[in-house]
Amino acid sequence: MPEDTVGFIGLGIMGRPMALNLLRAGYSLVVHNRTRAKEEELVSKGARAAGSPREVASASEIVITMLPDSPDVEEVYLGSEGVIAGARGGQLLIDMSSIAPAVAVAVSSAASEIEADALDAPVSGGDVGAREGTLSIMVGGSDEAFKRAKTLFDVLGKTVVHMGGAGAGQTAKACNQILVAVTIEAVSEALVLASKAGVDPDRLIEVLSGGLAGNRVMEVRRRNFLEHDFTPGFKLHHKDLGIALRTARELGVYVPTTAIVDQMLAALKAAGDGGLDHSALLKVIEEASAHRI
Ligand code: NAP
Repeated sequence: MPEDTVGFIGLGIMGRPMALNLLRAGYSLVVHNRTRAKEEELVSKGARAAGSPREVASASEIVITMLPDSPDVEEVYLGSEGVIAGARGGQLLIDMSSIAPAVAVAVSSAASEIEADALDAPVSGGDVGAREGTLSIMVGGSDEAFKRAKTLFDVLGKTVVHMGGAGAGQTAKACNQILVAVTIEAVSEALVLASKAGVDPDRLIEVLSGGLAGNRVMEVRRRNFLEHDFTPGFKLHHKDLGIALRTARELGVYVPTTAIVDQMLAALKAAGDGGLDHSALLKVIEEASAHRI
């Protein structure tokens, strides 16, 4: 039976199933979400509810956050009712949201000031990976903090890698999001070209999957592309490419294709399709090509 009480803040698409997995693994959980009604299901299964991130920190040894974006993480950690205000030396604070590496470094510094440890540990694998406990977890922070968190990460994920110091997990996540977005865009171009030339897109995916062009996007999103089914799905990709572009700018790294795909996601949003799955990039290529596959 795990001894540590874990605080969990942010019970959304990802946080809810992750928190449920920790409960199932025997952790004592203290939960909090901005919309408090989302705490009820966890409470009915044995978790305790807390009124603020500060209360969560006071009541637990390890705190996990799964929030939408950098400003949310800043507020939840550094605000007057935040985690740092309720935390104490020796605690372990783990942010699993996808945010800017620079904000992860700021949270880590704030934790150091009170002699607590912080890890940035963003994930890939989507809501299915969160439910099944098979996420890939990319971790930034000290060796010691990583070792302490490893048992808990093994409940949530299948591939857990310590990437380096504070912010390194977020850098890896930004790279992940570049690869996924650019691949979706490339698959979309290939599907529209094939289809407009009279070649069946379904058979195209089948044959290309057997060679060097085969990829997980084509495998996992095959049905979404072919049936134009873009709901529900992952709708935070524009935010993530923003993080990748800002990080590349800070470092002086040339990422032209990422910039173009970012613009395509902006166009989708402007057309009112910002809530669709990222595979809806296909629509952008279809509309500009005057052809629906
Ligand atoms: P989500 O469904 O929007 O969940 C975020 C949760 O955080 C919501 O329940 C929200 O509460 C809560 N929250 C926001 N601000 C808060 C605050 N100040 N205090 C307490 N709770 C607060 O988002 P998600 O899809 O779970 O994504 C979470 C993170 O994981 C994001 O960074 C995302 O990029 C990343 N991620 C997502 C996926 C995916 O497939 N969805 C995959 C990999 C990584 P409300 O109910 O009040 O809004």
